[in-house]
Amino acid sequence: MQKKYLIDEERIPRRWYNIAPDFPEPPAPALHPGTGQPVGPDDLAGLFPMGLIAQEASMERYIDIPDEVREIYRIWRPTPLIRADRLERALGLRDDQRIFFKYEGVSPSGSHKSNTAVPQAYYNREAGVKRLATETGAGQWGSALSMACQIFGLDLTVYMVKVSYQQKPYRRVLMELNGAHVYASPTAHTETGRKALQDDPDTNGSLGLAISEAVEDVVGHPGSKYALGSVLNHVLLHQTVIGEEALEQVGAADAYPDVVIGCVGGGSSFAGIAFPFMRETLAGKAKTRFVGVEPTACPSLTKGVFTYDFGDVGQTTPLLKMYTLGHDFMPAGIHAGGLRYHAMGPLISHAYHLGMMEAVAVPQTKVFAAAQMFMQNEGILPAPESAHAILAAIDEALAAKAAGEARTILFNLTGHGYLDLGAYEQFLAGKLEDYDHPEAAIKAAMEHVPSA
Ligand SMILES: *Cc1c(COP(=O)(O)O)cnc(C)c1O
Repeated sequence: MQKKYLIDEERIPRRWYNIAPDFPEPPAPALHPGTGQPVGPDDLAGLFPMGLIAQEASMERYIDIPDEVREIYRIWRPTPLIRADRLERALGLRDDQRIFFKYEGVSPSGSHKSNTAVPQAYYNREAGVKRLATETGAGQWGSALSMACQIFGLDLTVYMVKVSYQQKPYRRVLMELNGAHVYASPTAHTETGRKALQDDPDTNGSLGLAISEAVEDVVGHPGSKYALGSVLNHVLLHQTVIGEEALEQVGAADAYPDVVIGCVGGGSSFAGIAFPFMRETLAGKAKTRFVGVEPTACPSLTKGVFTYDFGDVGQTTPLLKMYTLGHDFMPAGIHAGGLRYHAMGPLISHAYHLGMMEAVAVPQTKVFAAAQMFMQNEGILPAPESAHAILAAIDEALAAKAAGEARTILFNLTGHGYLDLGAYEQFLAGKLEDYDHPEAAIKAAMEHVPSA
């Protein structure tokens, strides 16, 4: 392969890492909502191509990355591992209290989502699929998939959560430049959408609702398949290129982390950076702590219930065992759209349930202040989602400082925030508010969660 950049392409991983066979206990299977039995490949064949279905249930520890996918990865991979030394100084840390971050904002979509968009489009094209439908929360997933579909010659329809469609018009433009059709969800095109509009014409929409619309669209259009940007096992799998690269990079920098921190929406980017390090910890080679950071407005790990639930409002998906706030959860219109999903991916939920990781919830005003401090020191404006991890990394560093302990912190900077300037403008104007998702709302939503 001809070298494209002056980077070492050998350092782009050749395999994805599947944590499933390494868990001390196997994760609970996805269930068919009608029969209550574990779903088989045929149950998913209407939604996904077989290449991805095989990965979803795989118990192979490593899965080869196809050459064609790796060839596209080299547009932005390997991504840099950066020491936040100016931030360290601003926090008054000692030399042995170090903060590193893995920067996924260098991808074409500006976030880690491209890591899975490319293989998903690839396996669909391999299966002869002509068209995909998907949802997007903040627009990052839609932009990532639109580029991947453009590369592999697939048509794409995107149901974009209405509040983001309004707050982030430029994400829509990006998707449309790649030839995608983008609609503000809920739409009048689907039954789920029409019902939601009837219930509340001014609804903000939600990721769970947009997923239902995309799934309904696919079921009604033979030859189309569905694609999801987080939550599912195959998505988390694709993201492990982040952690595999980071593992090599911290080795070269003599910076093996004591703590790995990442924001969690559906959990894919967190899995991506954390699972390869968890493998080392499970093998007894390291003693790293893992911290997932979520918004107080959408606290699925810290306040949710670990149970079987639907992945969407319309109850069209298989039942997944996850920490959930209830599938009819309507999030507050906070500015980290990518973290507004009602539940947490089954593999992350399982890791949390087994005590392999910790979780914290943080309010958005503090998150934006941390983002500003990070930008002023490191020069990168983070996505509001990623800034959750920055805040937690700063807190972790300050705790080490207070204790007078050495600590190496690694966090995942999942994306840049240059298409989130509207949110930052509101932050500067003092217009951002904090939300705590009320316990009463969780209790009420649990009444609609099917007991498996
Ligand atoms: C989508 C997104 C997230 C959250 O999704 P995960 O699946 O939890 O990773 C985080 N950061 C950015 C920049 C995103 O686009």
